[in-house]
Parts: sequence; C-alpha cells; structure tokens
Amino acid sequence: MATCPICSKAPATPPYRPFCSRRCADLDLQRWFTGAYRIPVPEDETPRDVDEG
Ligand SMILES: [Zn+2]
Repeated sequence: MATCPICSKAPATPPYRPFCSRRCADLDLQRWFTGAYRIPVPEDETPRDVDEG
C-alpha cells in the first residue's frame, strides 16, 4: 500500500489519495501555491526621472 508523500508515515486513504488525510492534502496544495506565487521580479526596469521641474 502506498504511503502519504507528505508525512510518509500513514497509508493513503481513498478520499484523499495519494495523501493520508485532508491535512496532508492541504499542505501539498499550499506548497504548490507558494511555489507558483513566487514570481521572480524583473530588475531590468530602470526608474524614470520624475518631478524634475
Ligand atoms: Zn500524511
């Protein structure tokens, strides 16, 4: 039987496969989101001169 990839302790349960519980399923989702939201900011945008006169 496959074990939960998050905690790797408990066996996967049908409603939450491949996870063991909703908690672990949520954790995996959070990982995915945090990774997806971490967008690298381009730094080639030079600041323009404003209020020069
Ligand atoms: Zn688990």
